[in-house]
Amino acid sequence: MKLFLSIFLLLVSTQIYSQSDTEFIRKVYDEALERGESHQNLRSLCKDIGARLAGSAEAEMAVVWGEKLLNSYGFDKVYLQEIKVPHWERGTTEAGWIINEQGETLKLDILALGGSVGTKGLIEGEILEVASVKALQKLTTKEVEGKIVFINKAFDQKLIQTFKAYGACYPIRGNGTSEAGKLNAKAVIIRSLATPEDNFPHTGTMNYEEGVNQIPGAAISTNNATLLTQWLSKGKVMLKMEMDCKVFEDKTSYNVIAEMTGKDDKIISWGGHLDSWDVGEGAHDDGAGIAHSIEAMRILKTLGYQPNHTLRCVLFMNEENGNRGGKAYAKIASENKEEHICAIESDNGGFLPLGYKIDGSEKQIEMVQQFRPMLEDFELYSLKKGHGGVDIGPLKEYYPDMIQLGIAINSQEYFNLHHSKNDVFEMVNKRELELGAAAMTTIIYLMDQTLK
Ligand SMILES: [Zn+2]
Repeated sequence: MKLFLSIFLLLVSTQIYSQSDTEFIRKVYDEALERGESHQNLRSLCKDIGARLAGSAEAEMAVVWGEKLLNSYGFDKVYLQEIKVPHWERGTTEAGWIINEQGETLKLDILALGGSVGTKGLIEGEILEVASVKALQKLTTKEVEGKIVFINKAFDQKLIQTFKAYGACYPIRGNGTSEAGKLNAKAVIIRSLATPEDNFPHTGTMNYEEGVNQIPGAAISTNNATLLTQWLSKGKVMLKMEMDCKVFEDKTSYNVIAEMTGKDDKIISWGGHLDSWDVGEGAHDDGAGIAHSIEAMRILKTLGYQPNHTLRCVLFMNEENGNRGGKAYAKIASENKEEHICAIESDNGGFLPLGYKIDGSEKQIEMVQQFRPMLEDFELYSLKKGHGGVDIGPLKEYYPDMIQLGIAINSQEYFNLHHSKNDVFEMVNKRELELGAAAMTTIIYLMDQTLK
């Protein structure tokens, strides 16, 4: 009776994975945790190269580093994809002071926003505080002209996923300088996009709208922002600042790509971004994603995996200040008439993986959720609709029906160090990084097995 029942259950079962899948994934985890190379590769990227903003000498060295490492693993193909990237340099002078009516002075923890123009010497202005970009847009030129606008929007601490708090504050960094320029402000300072109250400023990209008056933009630490608000509640506060950052001509750079040949030409791509901000070491953002991505291909090869589809690991260049790598990759794919069925990204740090964010149709989301019982054995519980990643995003324009996935990572500490000098190798836990690499390998394997 028991045998009949088992056969019956087997026949009606809609389970899309088998015992061999479970066994394979167990082997992936064993390899990542016992013989993993992600941590040593990340150490090399962070310590031997360091911070690597697109257009910098370090970014060029990171391209050489990536190509050499991928070649050393003997993958079927390793090649570079040429792109043009922006070139901005922070320069050597970066300072700001606030002075209140009592003559008290405080030197600020300040970092120019990426892409900002310099101040052309020391500038001075009265500070005008606003709570958001929307609040700034309601002001008139008369109210703003000649002042230094301080946009002070804090992370909403109630949000469990810190990426949501970041997203809500993003406009103050991305658009605040442009909006203040339209009203003839002298410069902009923003409260750093960060979770904690501390003394570390966080940089990040900003955009000048076409044709607007380009004024300097900088971030100050959250502690400075809180203190500045207190000073402003008591009276006028002046700001003196100087920055010699500068935009240069675009430069040539590269995406670095490795491939495993499949039984067909359909492509599953995955990756992270090789560039980072110019402070810290880009360890979590996105050295971890690079380490995960390379390790995934290493593990698949080491386990002797024979892929159904063409598997492609992409180290994208220039996610941080232009996404030129992601855009070029998608455009070239379409020009070459490639058939892309899936793309996966790791760009949420090297902390503990929680599951996958799925960007796809209801049917595609359900397909991934069917793996839940098997994934739960590896503590991957989060299988929800979400954003795949910035680098892989442009593929959707050419391949609207493809599924995209992002590795979902515990986000609680990410914005303590994101885009700041604290984003260094020492802040990455070896085991958590290895689990992230295994989670990435697992989803690549499952998609290769499942997608037709
Ligand atoms: Zn990133």
